[in-house]
Amino acid sequence: MAAARSITSVSPTDGKVLGTFDTLPPAEVAERVGLAHRTWLTYRGTSFAERANWLLAAADLLDEDAEDIAKTMTAEMGKTHTSAAAEARKCASTMRFYAENAETFLADEPGEASAVDAEAAYSRYQPLGAVLAVMPWNFPLWQVIRFAAPALMAGNVVLLKHASNVPRTALYIDELFRRGGFPEGSFQTLLIGSGAVESVLRDPRVKAATLTGSEPAGRSVAAIAGDEVKHTVLELGGSDPFIVMPSADVDRAVEVGVTARTQNNGQSCIAAKRFLVHADIYDEFTDKFTARMAALTVGDPMDPNTDIGPLATEQGRKDVEKLVDDALHKGATALCGGKRVDGPGWFYPPTIVADITADMEIHGEEGFGPVPSLYKVAGIEEAIELANDTEYGLSSSVWTGDAEEQERFIDQIEAGAVFVNGMTASYPELPFGGVKRSGYGRELAAQGIREFCNMKTVWVGA
Ligand code: NAP
Repeated sequence: MAAARSITSVSPTDGKVLGTFDTLPPAEVAERVGLAHRTWLTYRGTSFAERANWLLAAADLLDEDAEDIAKTMTAEMGKTHTSAAAEARKCASTMRFYAENAETFLADEPGEASAVDAEAAYSRYQPLGAVLAVMPWNFPLWQVIRFAAPALMAGNVVLLKHASNVPRTALYIDELFRRGGFPEGSFQTLLIGSGAVESVLRDPRVKAATLTGSEPAGRSVAAIAGDEVKHTVLELGGSDPFIVMPSADVDRAVEVGVTARTQNNGQSCIAAKRFLVHADIYDEFTDKFTARMAALTVGDPMDPNTDIGPLATEQGRKDVEKLVDDALHKGATALCGGKRVDGPGWFYPPTIVADITADMEIHGEEGFGPVPSLYKVAGIEEAIELANDTEYGLSSSVWTGDAEEQERFIDQIEAGAVFVNGMTASYPELPFGGVKRSGYGRELAAQGIREFCNMKTVWVGA
């Protein structure tokens, strides 16, 4: 694929061009990769204390900048300013988490020396080198920081290829690490199109890659990395079930379910996408859920009273419309919403789709908008069967007060996480990742920082 020569950023709120950015020519990309590698040769020798100081300084700057960078995020991809500022603060606290815990997470792990006839035996975690991060626009700060903070603390250096619709946020992150004091070349944003990813990934000075995004993008990056025998982590799409059983606190499940489906204007990989509600409480849940969804305010994402801003791209709205139209055409019911908001911008209203059958596209595909799919289930067997009837396996949320049911869901749902009586969220303290076509590998917690390390086995004889 030919590399695009420029990146155009378009406001999802009114469709106007915000700016055009030149992409880096191939020679400059190669130069940046070289800089990353040269930097790594000395950066890997810096101490945890030095890296932590730089990361803590960057975290303080990010907290100070939160309101301003939030405006940039809102302008570029349409999330509400309130949620963008919260995202910035979450990033700052995750940077502090890794500044404080990286050394413990990467401490030598003792082995059974006597069992292997050694004086000492242990494992040591060492950095790999330059890691390419291919990132999406939906949480334009968080997706990058949750990878970069542990990667930098582990002694790796980062090359970021961010989504093409968030160039200013991408450049801000580059600047943030520099202002925090990280050595030149330890974090670099490469303004390149997706067609230029392959040559970066094949460069021998790039040691591994992480991608958060869609399945086609993940498959492409993983195939190239596989060809080069380079490690990858993939965080891909999701179609998470949100199961409500009769013993649940229905009011709470409704309240949390609305947030779980509509946060980030419905464009989250871990959004609750399929609501599987037990027949005994289906009518009660549906009435309350519909009333709350229909009452959400759709509008200007800068307005603090707005619940749902525009979808990030014109194509994104077309994709959502296509799923809903296909379902309605085949006999589904829209309990609220159902057609685009007139006027400028890529707005789409909260739309609950009920009476879904297996031949509808919405049944199998990930909807990236404020569009929950609603199903009635007769019991726990059907709930589990339907929950697992998807190619995805990112997370799940189950609502029940029954301990046995909780245990069955935890045991039998095929996903990277199960949240019981709560909404799926990512926490720096907990590993995050999927199974099936949602990807592989883990981010966050101790597991996340170890993903991009060489776990070196050490055996010392007498
Ligand atoms: P996307 O189109 O896959 O884009 C993600 C990134 O990959 C962008 O930087 C994009 O660059 C790049 N890219 C696209 N095609 C590529 C290719 N063939 N080779 C190399 N790079 C490529 O995804 P999106 O539509 O922006 O994001 C939404 C998807 O991400 C959803 O499926 C969502 O569920 C998933 N997601 C998953 C997680 C998770 O943690 N599991 C988190 C957030 C989002 P360009 O912008 O230049 O095309």
